[in-house]
Amino acid sequence: MPDLQAHYPLEPSASDMQAMGQDILTRIVEHLDQLSQMPSCGDIEAQALCSELGKEPTPDGETPLKEVLDPLFSDWIPRSFTTPGPGYLGFIPGGGVFTSALADFIATATNRYTGVWKAAPVLLQLESNVLRWFAEWMGMPSTTRGLLTTGGSQANFGAIVSARESLLGEALRDGVLYTSSQTHLCVRKSARLAGILPDRVRVVGVDAKYRMRVDELAETIQADRAEGLKPFFVASSAGTTNTGSIDPISDIADLCTKEGLWHHVDGAYGAFFYLCPDLQPRLAGLPRADSIALDPHKSLFLPYGTGALLVRDGKVLRAAHAATAEYLPEPQGHEEFYEPSQYGPELSRDYRGLRAWLPLKVHGVSAFRAALIEKHELAVSAAKRVAALPGVVMDADPQLSLFAFHLSWTGSDQAAENASTQQMLERVNARGRVMITGCSVAGQFMARVCVLCFRTHAESMDRCVEDIATEVAAAMAEKVA
Ligand SMILES: *Cc1c(COP(=O)(O)O)cnc(C)c1O
Repeated sequence: MPDLQAHYPLEPSASDMQAMGQDILTRIVEHLDQLSQMPSCGDIEAQALCSELGKEPTPDGETPLKEVLDPLFSDWIPRSFTTPGPGYLGFIPGGGVFTSALADFIATATNRYTGVWKAAPVLLQLESNVLRWFAEWMGMPSTTRGLLTTGGSQANFGAIVSARESLLGEALRDGVLYTSSQTHLCVRKSARLAGILPDRVRVVGVDAKYRMRVDELAETIQADRAEGLKPFFVASSAGTTNTGSIDPISDIADLCTKEGLWHHVDGAYGAFFYLCPDLQPRLAGLPRADSIALDPHKSLFLPYGTGALLVRDGKVLRAAHAATAEYLPEPQGHEEFYEPSQYGPELSRDYRGLRAWLPLKVHGVSAFRAALIEKHELAVSAAKRVAALPGVVMDADPQLSLFAFHLSWTGSDQAAENASTQQMLERVNARGRVMITGCSVAGQFMARVCVLCFRTHAESMDRCVEDIATEVAAAMAEKVA
């Protein structure tokens, strides 16, 4: 061992770095190879283990890397939902394409500072290109500017802050924000964080397909105006988390234009499906949004921690976030170059751009489009088969890649249906091959299947339908008996 290394343990030698990297790469590839055999729900009974681990003292001396990696890969990682596995159909699945992981490794190992343009202009240009591509895919104009965020929640928050700054100024308490009963919880939470308190947030009802009722929205806006309040923001959903429903985006855009309101589309689940020509009509009106929240870590198959906000009038996004100090380089004043710290709350940040740019460059957008089309088709085919099962009521057909259903039989009431649907869902999950989750809408408990993991293909969906069919039949037999 050379002396240097002994003195500077934080700077391993070239050969040590090669060895450590190889060890980890080998373990990762092995892990990914086993994903389809792992139970989809994971082994999450870990209370005793967590209590024990919780006593872990600060490590004083060294521990060989191998001793750290062994339990991590063999025991700790498997104690989680197998979110990157093909059987994961719960909530809204995330992604994690391998090329993105490589990009993250490059970004963190090279660790360049990307808070201000001057510090890494070319790297920030790549990130800016990704945001421009997103805007082009959504059909938004060249005035659009955006931000890569940590997720959809942060993107929705940025939209509300931008609209609030531009439309309300200091009169925060006058502003009213509109959601539907199916809007993601993060919109209400973001409103609160942005100073729009719960008494200024309206929850508009939905139609039989769980879409925001535009007539009720219009009436609510009028009622608030009559109270002397200032309606300013409507959040519509391009794919709700519960049932995958798409609000009437065009009609809401018309109303917002007429009323002078900011129309935000929460596209965290569904907006990237706009890349698929056949699905564009379902999302009609999306390009008219004042802002869109995207979640590349869902429907662009990137790793968790990757969201995006697009704002049609980029100047408004900048006006809401611009800030500088004497010790920092002067921010780029002109439009052409991208200055992330002037468009969002962060200064120092991880270089998120590479994990989106590199996979898009290496695979091409067509690979992502094809995967989205495949997920849609898988969901449509599975939903048809599930809907045909005796006892199943299909609550929501797949608009994009999510469907929801519940059990019902002659003489059943809602409480019995809920209990039975819940039990069927738990038994499907206990089989280990797939993981699905449920939701409650107006008191009705529904099992929902969301196909969005890029590793999910026809075989996994066959297993899903098989297991649902088995457990639905068992549940119905118990009802009749
Ligand atoms: C997932 C989701 C969000 C929240 O996004 P995070 O990335 O989890 O912060 C918001 N809206 C919808 C419709 C979602 O599916």
